[in-house]
Amino acid sequence: MYAEIIIPLALPKNYTWMIPASMQDEVAIGMRVEVMLGANKRYAGIVKNISSKAPEAFTPKPILSVLDDAPIVYEHQLALWEWMAEYYMCTEGEVMQAAIPSHLKISSESVFILNEQQEEDIKNLSDAEYIISEALEIKKTLTLIEIQKLLDKKSVYPVINKLIQKGICYVQENMKDKYTSKVEIFLSLQAQYKNEAALEKLLNEWTRAPKQLDLLLAFLHFEKTEGSVQQKSILEKANATHAQLKALIDKGILVAEKRKIDRLATDPNTGNTALHSLSEKQKEALTSVKSQLLTHPVGLLHGITGSGKTQIYVALINEVIQQNKQALYMLPEIALTAQMIRRLKQYFGGSIAIYHSKFNPNERVEIWNKVKSGEIKIVLGARSALFLPYKNLSLIVIDEEHDPSYKQQEPAPRYQARDTAIYYANQLKAKVVLGSATPSVETYYNAISKKFGYTYLNERFSTGELPKIELIDTKKQPAGTAILTPQLLASISKTIANKKQVILFQNRRGYAPYLICETCGWIPHCEHCDVTLTYHKAKNLLSCHYCGASYPIVNTCKACGKQNFKQKSFGTEQIEEKLNQSLPGVIVARMDLDNVKGKNEHDQLIQKFEQRQIDILVGTQMVVKGLDFENVDLVGIVDADSLLNFNHYRVNERAFQMMEQVSGRAGRKNDNGTVIIQVSQLQHPIVQLVQQHDYFGFYNFEIQNRKQFSYPPFSRLMSLLFKHKENNIAEEAANHFLHSLTPEIQKTVLGPAQPIVNRVRNKYIWELAIKISKQPQQLQLAKKQLLHYIRLLQVHPRYKSVSIIIDIDPN
Ligand code: ADP
Ligand code: ZN
Ligand code: ZN
Repeated sequence: MYAEIIIPLALPKNYTWMIPASMQDEVAIGMRVEVMLGANKRYAGIVKNISSKAPEAFTPKPILSVLDDAPIVYEHQLALWEWMAEYYMCTEGEVMQAAIPSHLKISSESVFILNEQQEEDIKNLSDAEYIISEALEIKKTLTLIEIQKLLDKKSVYPVINKLIQKGICYVQENMKDKYTSKVEIFLSLQAQYKNEAALEKLLNEWTRAPKQLDLLLAFLHFEKTEGSVQQKSILEKANATHAQLKALIDKGILVAEKRKIDRLATDPNTGNTALHSLSEKQKEALTSVKSQLLTHPVGLLHGITGSGKTQIYVALINEVIQQNKQALYMLPEIALTAQMIRRLKQYFGGSIAIYHSKFNPNERVEIWNKVKSGEIKIVLGARSALFLPYKNLSLIVIDEEHDPSYKQQEPAPRYQARDTAIYYANQLKAKVVLGSATPSVETYYNAISKKFGYTYLNERFSTGELPKIELIDTKKQPAGTAILTPQLLASISKTIANKKQVILFQNRRGYAPYLICETCGWIPHCEHCDVTLTYHKAKNLLSCHYCGASYPIVNTCKACGKQNFKQKSFGTEQIEEKLNQSLPGVIVARMDLDNVKGKNEHDQLIQKFEQRQIDILVGTQMVVKGLDFENVDLVGIVDADSLLNFNHYRVNERAFQMMEQVSGRAGRKNDNGTVIIQVSQLQHPIVQLVQQHDYFGFYNFEIQNRKQFSYPPFSRLMSLLFKHKENNIAEEAANHFLHSLTPEIQKTVLGPAQPIVNRVRNKYIWELAIKISKQPQQLQLAKKQLLHYIRLLQVHPRYKSVSIIIDIDPN
């Protein structure tokens, strides 16, 4: 027997290995097996097909070992991978690489790290397992080659696999991953205070030690919202010390106990699905979505910001789990905040699992297994959650479906998770609900063409009305006030005087996006990229936002030698500084990639803002996505021009979505919401439409443009990038490629052209953009040709070192 096996590499096709007679009963589709590629590379690949037919051209090598007792992926997943590889023009190996948690991947490049907290009894180890665990104790990390030498066996993966399963070592995904303990300290109330009257008495009679009281109150808050409270997280969240906690324990108020946790932290709290009852409008919308789904595979829920779409998703998901089926709730990665998770945990308690790429690998494997067995019913996750092994998925909710982050940019597979989800759901006979206040043009087009169901919810839950939008003309301002106009400053002061909060949005981080020599016009650029360097004042450096390189500040012009630089334009850092200067005593915080490293800091900042320890939050799109703050009355878009001025067919769509979404953060719980947009192009149609909150006007305007120039949804786009360290080779390769295509396909190609940023990390870029008709045959035909000529280019003596990147339906 022979097996077609996917290995996590970009190979042109899947290869075949022989199944030795001794393994024939053990191997099944979806299991991992150890195979050798070339003379000495070993991989854990996944069996995709088994057949009795031997390959014609060569004699396949044998499979070395079988790693699993049962398949780790379902066949419907393998079919999805195959489709993705075909549609997005990558390989199944690349899809596998993205789809599987690192702990389920083993290869010759893997490094294995000792888990210092392992608790396995050595009595339970086989000899081979024991040898490796001893070596790990001493060396802490081992490479695959070292393990091979130690064991001196043909097949070593089964041993490694067992060690991983037993928690003795783990696979290093990258240097940053840390293993977290399975044992955590949990806090709870001493039994006597579980009685409400006793607790009330305690709190009311509290006199000294205000910090301890703060900590206790924080504890009570989290116990209520999250069910169980870990010492580590409450100290962090309440910003309290161990001494304060110890005092509460010594006083007999709190009890601390070590608990071995399931890493998924399934809280005892089973959630409360009856938490909110729906408003009349929400009920109508829910009924409408449900009836649409009877006749459509996909339903669009178009609900204005603050209309309570989440409540409707919750109701839909709830019905699914009542029927013992699974639901996936997808969000853009940065919208997956602790705030959102807390809200959903209030409803679903422990039956919901969170999955995203920042999770540690062990947690991801645990979730993987529990989704596969059906134990986990609801997954909340970013785009990669689509790859989990669902046992009986019946609903996919894609919130903020318009969000560009559903498209993976780098590396392949460059997939659009929303579109992929729609395809997959169709295969699984599951339903999809897309939600947005600003649906993407193609989604709304599908809705009005009746391909998707459509439901409109046009009332905010608590106030009914969307915030009022004022435009401020930045051309008519006194010199030096373009960043914070007098009107904006006055509104901010008034809002803060009313004890309300403010959010200011600016699309650029840093202090100034570029410096320019006033004498000769020279602008400092990155040495590796064709990009101007952004000035960061606090860090006192210039930085390239494409490759991350940083440079010391330049004072002397490299072209003319004069010292006459001027800062141009402005980013979040400068807004923060100006606010601090103009409004002393007001607490300002900044939320952008420079200031917020990782999920934890992001969540902490959100929480501080929620608790009103911050008056003004200044930030990039991080302040926009899905956040729900009830005390924000004023939102300012500091520089709308920067959203309108770039050259891309989606510029209007992105600008409208961004401005409408930012505006949506104001006045979510009362009628006093105001939005101020500072802009020089007051008459720009998009600005006018945003001011009216007129989505339909926007759509009608935009769809004309798309039709006229036959952009999506009237065509399909593909982009081909040719990258090389020599500009002329990249350009020639693009031309050579273009001229090999048939005239029919050539007609549909734009370029070669250099993109706006035409060199990144020392490689020059030339692009061919292909616009083809939406007929599936056309697409197939074009792809076939492209693949053929790409292969030829890759062996062409002059061009074989050109890297070619194919992007289907690019952002
Ligand atoms: P959207 O996602 O449509 O912008 P959300 O789902 O975030 O809106 O809801 C906005 C706010 O209104 C949230 O704070 C939410 O808790 C509240 N809300 C919405 N519907 C209800 C309801 N039926 N009962 C109580 N609160 C609700
Ligand atoms: Zn100069
Ligand atoms: Zn650079």
